Amino acid sequence: MPTTFRNFIAGRWVAPASGAYFENRNPANTRDLIGRFPDSGSADVNAAVRSAEEAFRRWSRVPAPARGDVLKQVGDLLTERKEEIARAMTREMGKVLAESRGDVQEGIDTAYYAASEGRRLFGHTVPSELRSKWAMSYRRPIGVVGLITPFNFPLAIPTWKMFPALVCGNAVVIKPSEDVPHTVHLLVQILLEAGLPPEVIQLVHGRGETAGQALVEHPRVPVISFTGSTATGAMIGETCGRMHKRLSLEMGGKNAMIVMDDADLELALEGVLWGAFGTTGQRCTATSRLLLHRRIHDRFLRRLAEATEGLTLGDGRKDGADVGPLIHEAAREKVEGYVEIGREEGLELVTGGRRPRSPKLRNGWFYRPTIFAGARAGSRLAQEEIFGPVLTVIRFGSFDEAVRINNGVRYGLSSSLYTGDTNLAFRAMQELDNGITYVNAPTIGAEAHLPFGGVKQTGNGHREGGWEVYDFYSETKVCYVDYSGTLQRAQIDNY
Ligand code: NAD
Repeated sequence: MPTTFRNFIAGRWVAPASGAYFENRNPANTRDLIGRFPDSGSADVNAAVRSAEEAFRRWSRVPAPARGDVLKQVGDLLTERKEEIARAMTREMGKVLAESRGDVQEGIDTAYYAASEGRRLFGHTVPSELRSKWAMSYRRPIGVVGLITPFNFPLAIPTWKMFPALVCGNAVVIKPSEDVPHTVHLLVQILLEAGLPPEVIQLVHGRGETAGQALVEHPRVPVISFTGSTATGAMIGETCGRMHKRLSLEMGGKNAMIVMDDADLELALEGVLWGAFGTTGQRCTATSRLLLHRRIHDRFLRRLAEATEGLTLGDGRKDGADVGPLIHEAAREKVEGYVEIGREEGLELVTGGRRPRSPKLRNGWFYRPTIFAGARAGSRLAQEEIFGPVLTVIRFGSFDEAVRINNGVRYGLSSSLYTGDTNLAFRAMQELDNGITYVNAPTIGAEAHLPFGGVKQTGNGHREGGWEVYDFYSETKVCYVDYSGTLQRAQIDNY
C-alpha cells in the first residue's frame, strides 16, 4: 500500500476536505510510487488561512532574535538530515544526488542567514529637519503570506521564501509544486521539530488551478510569493493587481553564455556542460543559448558535441549518472515539440534529438542532451524557454553583436561571459540586461546570501535571497517623536 500523506493545517496533519488525492511517482522509474498526496481545494485553504491568522497575532510579537533562534535550529536539523532529504528529493524530482545535496545546502545556508537576520532587521534613524524631534523607521510583520513554488528546487525555493517570511514575523501558508510534494512535507516536519509554533506554518498540497488559485484569491492573504513559469505568473499577477496584494514573481529565463575567441575554452566547455545539462536543463538559470565567437565556433562545437555524447543518463541516486530524467511526460513532450520546431526551422541537429534507447531507462522520462547549431537570434529555439536538455548555438562576430543577441529576448535572468579581457568583463556586467551576470562561470551558481532575480518578463522587480528579500516580507513603518513641546510644522517651521 502506498503511503498517504496529509496537509498540515491548524497544527494537525489532516486529510483534504474533498477526500481526493493525487499520486507522486519517481520520474526516473514511474513504477515507483512515492505516495498519495492531498488534492486540496478552497475549503482546505480557508481553514489554513483562518488558523494562520490566529498564529500571526502571537508569532509577530515574539522578538525577532527568538524567531531567528528557531531558524538556527532548522539549519542544524537540515544539516543532520541532509542526505536523507537529498535522496527523497532525487527520488521525486530526478536530478542527480550531488545536485539534490546542493539544493538542501542552499536551504541550510538560507536558514543560517535568516537566523542571524533576526538580530538585524535594520531600520533607519535619520535626522529630523526640525529641532527636538526624532525620526526613524522600523520593520513590521505583515500577516499571512501565501507561497507557491515550482518543482525544480524542491527544498531551496520554499526555504528562500519561507525562512525570511518567518523571521520577519509572518505566518506562512505554502502550496508546493504537485510534482514534488514530499520534500516540503519533510521540511515542515523539521520546522515543527525545531520548535516553530505549529499554526505558524500551514501546508496545503494540491494542484495550481485549485489549491494554488484559492490561495492567491484569498482576501485575507495580503502577500503572495510565486516562483514558476511566466504564463502562470501573469495569471497570478492579474489577480494580485486587482486585489492590491503585495506580490513577488520569479519566472522563466532564456539564459545565454557568450564565449569570446580569447576565452579559456576548456573552462568554457566544462561550464556549458554543467550550465546546459545540469538538472536536465530544468533550471530557471539554465544555459539554453550558447553564443560562440566565429573564430572558435567550429572547434568548440566539435569538442562540445563529443563531451555531450559522453554524458550518462540514469537514475540520479545511482553512481555514474550525469543527467536525470525530465519531471514528467508533458515536459518530455514539450522538449520533443521543440526538437521538431528546430528541425522545421532548418537548424542543424548536432547531437541528441531523441529518447535514449537503453531498456534500463524505459520507465523514466529521459531524453538525450540535445544541441542545435546554426540558429539565428530570432529562431524560436533561441527565444522560448524549453526547460529541458536542449542547447541552442548561435554564431557571432563581435562583442557588441553578442550583447545585442543576449538582450534580444523577453526574459532577463542570468548571463555569462567567458573571456580573458578585463575590459570586456566589466562591459558585460554593465551591458548585459539580466539580474545576474557571471564572468568565466556558467549561467548557474547563485549563492544564498546574494539577491537573486531577473529583469523583464523574468520578474517584477523583487529579489529573493540575500538582504533584499527582507524588505518584501516586512512593512516599513516610520515614526516621528516631537519632544519640543510646541507645534512644529514640517516644511514650514524648519531651522
Ligand atoms: P508552473 O508555473 O507550472 O508551476 C509553479 C507553481 O504554480 C506550482 O506550484 C503550480 O501548482 C502553481 N500553479 C499553477 N497554476 C496556478 C494557478 N493558476 N494559480 C496558482 N498557482 C498555480 O512552473 P513549474 O513547471 O513548476 O516550474 C518551471 C518554471 O519555473 C520555469 O518557467 C522556470 O524558469 C521557473 N522558475 C523560475 C525561477 C526563478 O527564480 N526565476 C526558479 C525556478 C523555476
